[in-house]
Amino acid sequence: MLTGQATVPFVDLKRQHRAIGRALREAYDRVLDQDGYTLGGEVEAFESEFADSVGTEHAIGVASGTDALHLTLRACGIGSGDEVLLPANTFAATAEAIVMCGARPVFVDCERGSYLIDLDRAEDAVTPSTRAIVPVHLYGQCVDMRRVGEMAQRHGLRVIEDACQAHGASRSGLGAGSAGDAGCFSFYPSKNLGALGDGGMVTTSDPGIAGRVRSLRNHGEGAKRLHTESGYCSRLHGLQAAFLRAKLPMLAEWNEMRAEGASAYREYLSDSGCVLPEEIPDGRHVYHLFVVQVADRDGVRARLAERGIQTGIHYALPLHLEPAFEAYGPDKGALPVAEAACSRILSLPMFPYLVDEEVRMVADALKDAIDA
Ligand SMILES: *Cc1c(COP(=O)(O)O)cnc(C)c1O
Repeated sequence: MLTGQATVPFVDLKRQHRAIGRALREAYDRVLDQDGYTLGGEVEAFESEFADSVGTEHAIGVASGTDALHLTLRACGIGSGDEVLLPANTFAATAEAIVMCGARPVFVDCERGSYLIDLDRAEDAVTPSTRAIVPVHLYGQCVDMRRVGEMAQRHGLRVIEDACQAHGASRSGLGAGSAGDAGCFSFYPSKNLGALGDGGMVTTSDPGIAGRVRSLRNHGEGAKRLHTESGYCSRLHGLQAAFLRAKLPMLAEWNEMRAEGASAYREYLSDSGCVLPEEIPDGRHVYHLFVVQVADRDGVRARLAERGIQTGIHYALPLHLEPAFEAYGPDKGALPVAEAACSRILSLPMFPYLVDEEVRMVADALKDAIDA
């Protein structure tokens, strides 16, 4: 296998940082000239700008996407004995946040075309202990939040959106992170909006959730500096907030660049024999990932790597089959769509400033690898 420089990297963040280098350096200088390093003025300004961009009353900066989910679940009163619905095919953090609360993750199968949580199966999984659902806007495409809202109403559930892969996405006019009780975002560097380190955000128009997350993120500090409950150390850093403020105005353009890359893949791969990702009508897909399905995925992936083309797998196992979560069930075979997809899915290079020539190289190499 070829080592050294990738011909086409999976993600290259240096390109976007070069494009806004001056704004990032100005952000850094601003932080050196003031004294808000954990929370503070830059964080408050970014919270307000981010809330405006999502369309919620409040946004609360935290240390990571995982913490955004964990603290929001806690703020919604989720705890021991409670069941929380989530898709089986998501990043481990979605389930970790539920486990951190002492609640039980209930894994649900996904839809065949979109890979999003199957809401019919979610409804089947509701029991008298179900307290919340965490729809994940996977790969950059939103779950149908109107249907989630109706279901939540019927069963008295809290709705906590995992929007960690969906900054700027929408469906039927509802923006990611604005339609549930709260939305949770990650600013891990490779997300559609990424810091130069870790960070996260909770968006909500519910003042109760906002206040509780604000307190929990900073050691449970409440009014008059009283520690009203035992909380956590989960603050967004001023430096990361300043960098994120420099990047937020670029998000729409960067998402557009991802969408252009996605349509180029569609064109070049139309006769390739691989299964292309479904794009739901009436939605804005922000292509955090471009995921295809191929037979002999591992063989195809190795042949691409030989040509210097980096790919990813999101995710190699649905969470109910991962050692960390298998105790929660269900048994292998119970979630057939997610289980079948995981051995066939392949994430192709996708990031803003991926050029057309690179997309064509990936597509040509993929076709050769499929035919080999
Ligand atoms: C990245 C991600 C998270 C967690 O974000 P961190 O910032 O890494 O904690 C949670 N859920 C999903 C779906 C993600 O992609």
